[in-house]
Amino acid sequence: MLIDDEILVCPSCRGGLDWKKDAVACLSCGMKFPVYARVADFRGVSKEFSPSAKEVEVRDALLAAYDSSSFEDLLKIRFGGSKECPRDLIEFNLAFELSYESKGAYRCFQRNKLLADSGKKLSGSRVFLDVGCGTGTAVPWIMKGFDAGVGLDYSLVDLIVGRKFLAEHKIENITLVCADARKLPFAEGQFDFVNATDVIEHIVPGQEDFLREIRRVLVSGGGFYFNSPNRYNVFTPEPHVLVRFVGFIPRSWMDGYVYMMKGVKYGAIRLLSIRELRRITGAVFGNGFLLTGPFIDMSAPATDFKRRVVKKMPFLLAFVNAFLKPVTTNYQVIAFKP
Ligand SMILES: [Zn+2]
Repeated sequence: MLIDDEILVCPSCRGGLDWKKDAVACLSCGMKFPVYARVADFRGVSKEFSPSAKEVEVRDALLAAYDSSSFEDLLKIRFGGSKECPRDLIEFNLAFELSYESKGAYRCFQRNKLLADSGKKLSGSRVFLDVGCGTGTAVPWIMKGFDAGVGLDYSLVDLIVGRKFLAEHKIENITLVCADARKLPFAEGQFDFVNATDVIEHIVPGQEDFLREIRRVLVSGGGFYFNSPNRYNVFTPEPHVLVRFVGFIPRSWMDGYVYMMKGVKYGAIRLLSIRELRRITGAVFGNGFLLTGPFIDMSAPATDFKRRVVKKMPFLLAFVNAFLKPVTTNYQVIAFKP
């Protein structure tokens, strides 16, 4: 089932779209959006958007090679496109991209576990949305149990590569869309479940607006699963730049601190604390959400050392979990549209 026509609307006025081979036009406001290899690019809805020179170069190289190349060849163009990219980094990216099946299956497992813990049941299992899908190669495994899916990302070049993957695997129930997660090109109440892995910390500004957009496109009773790295994590370095204790200094100093420690820009990343995460999730979805993190988990395998210790001294469980919760590495949340 291809759902392009059924589900996509103009992200500006939510009017219907007129599909042509290399562009879609809004039937209400007339806004036009380009289409590349069947991926519609809705980022232009923001006036300030313009693709970088690098993106245009890689995009054109991918499109020129698209018909005659395999998925893996396109991946190499995607990651090897620039001369300054070191060989080992290209290899690393390729290996990461080719582990899609296990990545997707793991996320599906995590979501089902949290869903079971929440005690809620999904009303339908029809349409799934994965926000921040990258190349989208893990989507078939993440959306297991659903009839059709949409993979959405801000990276057009990743999605062009992903289109080839879907064609090669003859997967016809997934649509790939390029758009801003704060301005989704979907009408209200279209999705039974939304997944957003490693996304919310990159939505800067507008993390709460992002949650509101997700709520808008969910059906009533639909579920939303996402993760969020903890600002006040004392156990591991900041996961994007691998610098310790970034979260403990004022936000306005973070850029300078990361640059001093690592010589790189911190840029548009905003990690949430457990308080902020609870506040914005509650403000948008109400209080019926479940938040968890890698505390001591009594459903972990019985061989787990922490679990064995706690089983002998049960009073430790409540104490340690209450103590570690605000400073653990990351959180997972499942929320439902009332
Ligand atoms: Zn429009």
